[in-house]
Amino acid sequence: MDMTAAVLRGVGDLSLRRVPRPEPGPGEVLLKVEANTICGTDLRIISGAKTAGVRPGVIMGHEFAGRVAAVGDGVEGVDVGVQATCSIVLSCGRCARCLAGREHLCESLRLFGYEIDGGMAEYLLVPREAMERGNLVLAPRELEPTTLALAEPVSCCLNGARQFRVRPGDSVAVLGTGPIGLLHVALAKLAGATRIVAVGRPGRLDPAVELGATHALSAQGEDLTREVLRLTGGGADVAVVAVGDPALADQALQIAAIGGRVNYFAGFPKGSTALMEPNVIHYRELQVTGGSNARRADVRRAVELLSSGALDVASLVTHRFPLAEIDAAIAAVRQRAGLKVAVVPS
Ligand SMILES: [Zn+2]
Ligand SMILES: [Zn+2]
Repeated sequence: MDMTAAVLRGVGDLSLRRVPRPEPGPGEVLLKVEANTICGTDLRIISGAKTAGVRPGVIMGHEFAGRVAAVGDGVEGVDVGVQATCSIVLSCGRCARCLAGREHLCESLRLFGYEIDGGMAEYLLVPREAMERGNLVLAPRELEPTTLALAEPVSCCLNGARQFRVRPGDSVAVLGTGPIGLLHVALAKLAGATRIVAVGRPGRLDPAVELGATHALSAQGEDLTREVLRLTGGGADVAVVAVGDPALADQALQIAAIGGRVNYFAGFPKGSTALMEPNVIHYRELQVTGGSNARRADVRRAVELLSSGALDVASLVTHRFPLAEIDAAIAAVRQRAGLKVAVVPS
């Protein structure tokens, strides 16, 4: 039997094709995809700006939710019809990084939607290795698939947030109000931050306030520094860079409080460098961290937060397209038509 899938045939060429529908072998699970949200990284993969770990011919999509359509021999505890998503990081479990608890930075990691076929298709196979590593995460039946698909970006934000640990009463500044910045705003609120300043494009300040920002502004440069220092009473306990603009590397330091935690969460353009004032780190005793991908535990936590409603970010998904209109869906992301764009196969 065949299925429709969005296949990356080469740089700039993501197109719908009829491909064989995978059959779950022993230990494998087949998901019928119900939603796949698109992220900025997908655009970079399609344009060729991101090539690391990307296999030509791959079915794209790394933020997906589906229902178990079939299970292979030997799979236990996974019933047909149950809703699920997957940690997209397939790690080896044996390398030094995996053993040190950094499976998401595994030396031989493979990602769904990059190398392993992903969610922009009618069906997705969870390979045996991924099942054995416990990558499949089950979710309540009633959770909206477009919301469950957000477990991937949420899990990445949780991994980043582990580095800077927002404490109750903290002030947090989030630079960037794309979907990732907005998720950081919502997570900062959940963690008990009392002042949350979101900085971004004028059109995306309202969503930031809806998700918990106490202040939202579109200032830049020194104006931005002055405003954040004023609103936080001398500097943010946590400053998160949630958009890959190298100029924000220094900006985030300038707005941080004494002893503040600065996190470069966003990926920056390959090879980019930034000018910064290291004395700010020195005199203010800042902690500067990064964050990339997520652990399986982060995905499980993300599914819990989304299922319980503790993290209510369903409103982030503003656009839905059938798989047949994948080009329109990609164009909507490129034009920043809304916040999160979902492909809904059927
Ligand atoms: Zn992504
Ligand atoms: Zn490893």
